[in-house]
Amino acid sequence: MPELPEIETIKTGLASHIIDKIIINYEKKCKVLRQILSNNFDILLNARILSIMRRAKYLLINLDNSFTIVIHLGMSGSFTIQPANYSSQKHDHVIFYLDNQQQLVFNDPRRFGMIYLLPQEKLLDQQIFKALGPEPLTEQFNAGYLASKLAKRHKIIKNVIMDNNIVVGVGNIYASESLFRAKIHPLRPAYSLSHMEIIDLVLAIKNVLISSIAAGGTTLKDFINANSKPGYFQQELLIYNRAGKPCFICSNIIRKIILAGRGSYYCGYCQVI
Ligand SMILES: [Zn+2]
Repeated sequence: MPELPEIETIKTGLASHIIDKIIINYEKKCKVLRQILSNNFDILLNARILSIMRRAKYLLINLDNSFTIVIHLGMSGSFTIQPANYSSQKHDHVIFYLDNQQQLVFNDPRRFGMIYLLPQEKLLDQQIFKALGPEPLTEQFNAGYLASKLAKRHKIIKNVIMDNNIVVGVGNIYASESLFRAKIHPLRPAYSLSHMEIIDLVLAIKNVLISSIAAGGTTLKDFINANSKPGYFQQELLIYNRAGKPCFICSNIIRKIILAGRGSYYCGYCQVI
């Protein structure tokens, strides 16, 4: 599943290809992705692309006609730039044709992704964005903020940091990695974290995401090539998917438990319960 660092990398990779280009045509090959696609796509015709941004795991393509194309890649989506001679592949659901002959292609085998066309005015007040917590790499996500959210909360810390209403973009892998780096056991009740632990956790989340985005930069060329999928990172993971292997810090065996249906990894010695 594409996570925040992948989306950030896609955003950066696409920017130089699409900014200032005009959408001269589009093709909708299906009517329904996660939801029914809106029937106002004609708004796109002859619109110039001004910028591309990211909010949580949404890509926002701002047009000069006061609309924004909002794209979510769901579980299996990709959004790639393709050359003029590209021939459509299975699961290519929406194609935008640009005035430099290139094509922007949304492909999604499982169709959990979505494309919205929304007015820019009050865009972030729209239903899909309204409840989202702060971006993890902004100043708003700091220890004071997180402490206020953890206080009195009895849910386990791993599920809380994965809650998009608290902070966006901390997916399953990043949650396990951050908790390991901050030496916090994933089963701890959220309220039980000390202020020092919260400071460590905020830093760990930011560092894990920053290094993952940096790793993504090295795979940039992969996802703009024809037929490629977005780059999934070869970032070195310290704990995720290492059940039964020795901890890099203490050599004790890493354990796996299922939390909220997701594989969760921890070291029972390094991560204090
Ligand atoms: Zn350990």
